[in-house]
Amino acid sequence: MTIPELDLIEDANRRAHAYLASVQSRRVFPDMATIESLSIFEEDLLQEPVDGAQTLALLDQAGSPATVTSNGPRYFGFVIGATLPVAAAADRLAQSWDQCASSHINSPAAAAIEKAASRMVLQALDLPQNAAIGFGTSATACGLSCLAVARRELLARLSWDVDQKGLMGAPPIRVVVSNVVHITIIKALRILGFGLQNIIYAPVDAHGRIDPEQLPDLDDHTILCLQAGEVNTGAFDPFAPLIAAARKAGAWVHVDGAFGLWARASRDLRHLTIGLEEADSWTTDGHKWLNTPYDSAMAICRDGDAMAACMNADAVYASAEPDAQKNLTLEFSRKARGISIWAVLRTLGREGLDQMITRHHQQAQRLGEGLREAGIEVLNAVVLNQVLARLDTDERTLALIKAVQDEGVIWFGGTRWNDRAAFRLSVSSWRTQDADIETAITEIKQKLEQL
Ligand SMILES: *Cc1c(COP(=O)(O)O)cnc(C)c1O
Repeated sequence: MTIPELDLIEDANRRAHAYLASVQSRRVFPDMATIESLSIFEEDLLQEPVDGAQTLALLDQAGSPATVTSNGPRYFGFVIGATLPVAAAADRLAQSWDQCASSHINSPAAAAIEKAASRMVLQALDLPQNAAIGFGTSATACGLSCLAVARRELLARLSWDVDQKGLMGAPPIRVVVSNVVHITIIKALRILGFGLQNIIYAPVDAHGRIDPEQLPDLDDHTILCLQAGEVNTGAFDPFAPLIAAARKAGAWVHVDGAFGLWARASRDLRHLTIGLEEADSWTTDGHKWLNTPYDSAMAICRDGDAMAACMNADAVYASAEPDAQKNLTLEFSRKARGISIWAVLRTLGREGLDQMITRHHQQAQRLGEGLREAGIEVLNAVVLNQVLARLDTDERTLALIKAVQDEGVIWFGGTRWNDRAAFRLSVSSWRTQDADIETAITEIKQKLEQL
């Protein structure tokens, strides 16, 4: 008996195999001509059905060459990890299961495995072991969830039932964020209706860390948002004094640790994170430094009941345990995205995780050293996996970025720091070997000489 689905899956597997075999050597960013040939996708909805194999062939023939090799060893853009083999494989199998990971009744397997993932995440990050974790699509969505929980809880403490009464006439909740807060926190605050002009910015030092001496006043109407890993410098806010001040005032502390939270898993880097375990909520991504596939993030809340009350989506036909995933995340139906997180932690263990995170830090330090040797100004203390640098003029900085990107051997992006053009490199792929770091340094030196 033939099962039609299997031929297509075999076909996809063959193509995926060929693609993965190419990531070591392919261009890191597609060239112009390849990007232009993506116009083949500008077709209208077909009238008649076609063979699925034809659609898959189109996807591979036109899509694969135009991909960005962010899953490869020499992509240093943004903070984009690759996918660890076991994460890719587990995700592949879980896709075949096609589970709706809402609750135990929808999928006992997904519920049990995501519970296991929660336990391992809390152990790996050394956060309160009874905290709740909602596995959401992104740090953006998870940050939004945590901020909604924070506001609901602060209002409840002020005897305001926001579920029933809404925000009109509610006691005002203040939000204090870092002066270099990530844009997605601002987006979440805007969507939640805090009002951009009501956001209070805390002054930061030269590395982008909130200065405790200049922390705006906090009270029990305040949410304080801190950062573990600033996107340019990789810097951490000084958690201990900031969270102590927040505790005293009765404020809620949320920590955005989209990539930086994983520093806690490294013996060498853990000191950066001391004190953040005292916060009320945290967000982090799997799809950045943990090297899981995309749509993999975590909203973590010390008070699991508060999170479950805020995010509850029980209906008469679909009621579940308070800590069912549909009662902890924005989604009602969703893939079992915690499975790839479980697979990575189950496979690496404490030692493997420590080694990956620590190695990326060391590789970033070597990159910084190599740039300095080439006469390039490194702007940050390379405390994490980020290197921030610039040339003597904005014009030359932008020209270097373009020359490197055009060549296609490595890729990194531009940014602005202290109102000047800069570029940043992030080391966050399990595939990146020390030799790739030397390749990057050589490449940058060569392009610098040719400027
Ligand atoms: C990437 C990032 C985010 C947003 O994460 P997504 O998963 O892309 O939504 C938030 N904060 C920081 C510090 C980040 O680096």
